Amino acid sequence: MAHDSHGRTIDYLRISVTDRCNLRCVYCMPPEGIEWKPMEGILSFEEIERFAAIAVENGIRKIRLTGGEPLVRKGLVGHVRRLRAITGLDSIALTTNAILLPKYAQQLRDAGLSRVNISLDSLDPDVYAEMTRGGRLQDALDGLDTALEVGFKPVKLNVVVVRSLEQDLASFAKLAIDRPIHVRFIEYMPVGDANAVGARGHQGCWTEADHVPSDEIIETLGTAMSAQGLGPIEAVHKGQGPEGWGPARYFTMPASVGTLGVISPLSRHFCGECNRLRLTADGRIRPCLFSDREFDVKTALREGTDREVNEVIAAALREKPETHEQRRGTVRGMSQIGG
Ligand code: SAM
Ligand code: SF4
Repeated sequence: MAHDSHGRTIDYLRISVTDRCNLRCVYCMPPEGIEWKPMEGILSFEEIERFAAIAVENGIRKIRLTGGEPLVRKGLVGHVRRLRAITGLDSIALTTNAILLPKYAQQLRDAGLSRVNISLDSLDPDVYAEMTRGGRLQDALDGLDTALEVGFKPVKLNVVVVRSLEQDLASFAKLAIDRPIHVRFIEYMPVGDANAVGARGHQGCWTEADHVPSDEIIETLGTAMSAQGLGPIEAVHKGQGPEGWGPARYFTMPASVGTLGVISPLSRHFCGECNRLRLTADGRIRPCLFSDREFDVKTALREGTDREVNEVIAAALREKPETHEQRRGTVRGMSQIGG
């Protein structure tokens, strides 16, 4: 098992396979997009697979593929199959905006993908188009349906709550009543350029005023669901929630098949339980989402031995910060880091 210098076990690796995306979510990317890294600056699948195998030797047990939008990278299904074959890896998951799932869900399942998390921030077609700057809600819903049809279980839906966008949170909770969907409301986070154009009425990808603490999210949901005769919502005890529990707090509603959850990276940060490292698409290990400190492992992967790759992993573990304090944004946006 790998431990960082604060005694935490590190067994979870999030790998960004691309910085490119087919959407432009207001909290993630500026409207004009970002300057894509040229392909030679991006790790090849072979390089990622070598890194992953070495990381598993160091104690990594779970991998999540993310981006940018991982499904826009050609050849992802084969990549999943090869990662799955790494001895010692327990599970491999994917975070996606679901637009391309109708095309790839079955192939991904056949390749051994364990789980999918789908990011979907509004069930109102106009708000969805505004949040994603042009996305079509029906495409994402088709992706969600396909994920369920091919048998991914659980399917988790990630909803980032942004105050000024006034999302209808109860509409998501209703989705979980008769379908095996775990809806997780995520606090909007200070990641990305604070000077870029962000959500409705604000300048900045990160705006403090748009942050909604998870306790307020639960209260809003509870009130709305009870008013519609669908409440109350009740806390689920740890161990009874969906597989791959992670840092979420879960809730159920009477007779619901799915669950509700909240993830509170800011209002109740879970740094003490943090078990993750990130690998960016351009080959840097990022020990903490909120810290711009990164460790170049691309050079070691291209020119060095496994021992040199191990040394970079060891340095990243040593320097993983104990906690995060800042609320001012980061140099690189979520799509470049790998959310
Ligand atoms: N494109 C894929 C997707 O959207 O699921 C994977 C990459 S995306 C960067 C990963 C996750 O980060 C998404 O669930 C997205 O909503 C979330 N995210 C991006 N920027 C965020 C922010 N500033 N605060 C909170 N979550 C954010
Ligand atoms: Fe793309 Fe995901 Fe970022 Fe939206 S959140 S712009 S889908 S990478």
